[in-house]
Amino acid sequence: MFSCALCEKETVYVVSLCNKCRRIKHLLNLYDERVYEVLESVLVRNVEGQNNKVDNVLKKDLEKREYNLRKKNKLNNIE
Ligand SMILES: [Zn+2]
Repeated sequence: MFSCALCEKETVYVVSLCNKCRRIKHLLNLYDERVYEVLESVLVRNVEGQNNKVDNVLKKDLEKREYNLRKKNKLNNIE
């Protein structure tokens, strides 16, 4: 019986990481440096600042998707 190597809270038996931390490891493998940038820029704030940052990021993503959709529709002559 051992503790998870990352969170040091969950108990693990055969593996070194618990399920939640394995997910984090997977995201690190996928996004590499971006994970560190997001954690530093989003989580290193107070709760209100975190919520504002999440809202702003979601808003920007939504605006970008709408822009890309409009551009795609314009290329295909669909309005
Ligand atoms: Zn863990």
